[in-house]
Amino acid sequence: MATTMQSANSIPQWQTLWLNVNLATMTEAGSDYGVVKQAALAISDGKIVWLGKEVDLPTYNKSGTEVIDGQGKWLTPGLIDCHTHLVYGGNRANEFEMRLQGKSYQEIAESGGGIVSTVKATREATEVELLSSALPRLKALHLQGVTTVEIKSGYGLDLENEIKMLNVAGELAKQLPITVKRTFLGAHALPIAYKDDAAGYIDLVCNEMIPIVAEQKLADTVDVFCENIGFDIKQTERVFTAAKAHGLDIKVHAEQLSNLGGTELAAKYQALSSDHVEFLPEQGIKAMSATDMTAVLLPGAFYFLRETQLPPIDLLRKHNVPMAIATDANPGSSPICSIQLMLNMACTLFRLTPAEALAGVTCNAAKALGLCKTKGQLTVGRDADIAVWNITQPAELCYQFGVNPLSALIQNGKQVI
Ligand SMILES: [Zn+2]
Repeated sequence: MATTMQSANSIPQWQTLWLNVNLATMTEAGSDYGVVKQAALAISDGKIVWLGKEVDLPTYNKSGTEVIDGQGKWLTPGLIDCHTHLVYGGNRANEFEMRLQGKSYQEIAESGGGIVSTVKATREATEVELLSSALPRLKALHLQGVTTVEIKSGYGLDLENEIKMLNVAGELAKQLPITVKRTFLGAHALPIAYKDDAAGYIDLVCNEMIPIVAEQKLADTVDVFCENIGFDIKQTERVFTAAKAHGLDIKVHAEQLSNLGGTELAAKYQALSSDHVEFLPEQGIKAMSATDMTAVLLPGAFYFLRETQLPPIDLLRKHNVPMAIATDANPGSSPICSIQLMLNMACTLFRLTPAEALAGVTCNAAKALGLCKTKGQLTVGRDADIAVWNITQPAELCYQFGVNPLSALIQNGKQVI
C-alpha cells in the first residue's frame, strides 16, 4: 500500500506536454544543435520540467496535462537578440537616399545627418511617440521567434533623455510578451553641447547618469562605444570603473573600425561581451578567452556599411570564444529588425556554420546578456521560452530567408504566438 501511495505521489502532473517533436536543445556540451529526435518536452510553472526521447517519457497524470501533438516540428530555445538600439526617434532614410545620390559624408553631416539627427529626433519625441515607433520593430523580432531582446539607450545623451529611452524600453516589455534587458549607453557619442569637452561629458556619464541609472534600476549593464570616432581607451575605462562601482555589468562596442584595445580593456573589467570585433587581434581574443567573454557579431552593420574587414572567426574558434549574433537594429548602420536574416548573413557573410549561427542567437546570446543560467537552451529547470518551427532540419533556419517558418512561440511557459 505504501509503495502504491508513493508511486502515485511521484506521478508528475505537467501543465503542458509537447509530443511528437524534435529538439535542438543548443546545450553547450552537445555538438550539432544538441538534437533529440522523436522527443517530448514538458512545461510547468513557466519552466521546462522534462525533456527527452518520447519512448523514455515517464508515466504522467494525463487528466491534468494539456497534451499537444507537435506533428514532427522542431523546438529550439526562444531566440535572443542580444544587441539592439531599437528605441529611437525619426529615421535616416533621407540620409541613405542622399548617399546613394552621390552626396558626400561632409554634405550629409552639413545637412544635419548622422547620429546627430537621431539624437535630435529622439530628444524631441515623447515617451509615447518613442514607444509607438519602437513597437513595430520589436513586434517584427517577436514574430520571428525572439523571446528576449537587449535594448540600449544612447540617443538621448543627457540625463533626461537617456532615462526617457530606458523607460520606453521598460514599457515595451509590458506591451509584448518578451523579456527586455536594458543597457545604458550614455557613452555612445559626444552631444553637440560637449563638442570640445569629451572629458566633461564623461564626467556627466560617470558622476550623474550611472548613479541614477543604477539607483532607479533603469538598466543592469553599461556599454561604451570605444572607437576612433567614439570614446578612447581612457574615457572607456572611466565609464567601466563607474559602472562597476555601482554594481552594473559592462559590455563594449569595440574594434569595429579600428583596433584601440577596447576588448582587452573590457576583459580586464570582466565584461560580458565585446561587440563588432572585426579588427580584433589574437591578443584581444586570448584576453576574451581567459575571462569567458562572448564576442557579439553584427552582420547587419557589416552588410549595411558595406564593410570588408571580416571578424576573426577562425581565431575566435581556435580560442573557444563563444560567438553570439545580433541585429544591432539601429537607424544609422543597421536598420534591420530580422533575426532570421542575421542567421543567414552570419553564414553567408561570416562563414559561420548553421549550428554556430543558431548558437549565436540562443545559448551564446544568453551568455552575452548574463542570462545563461535561465535562457538560451532547452534543459530542465530553464525558462520555458521556446520557438516551434515548421522545418525539417535546424539548418533550414539559416538557409532560407524570407519565408517565416515560425509555427508557435512560448514565453515563460505560455503560448504567445
Ligand atoms: Zn550597436
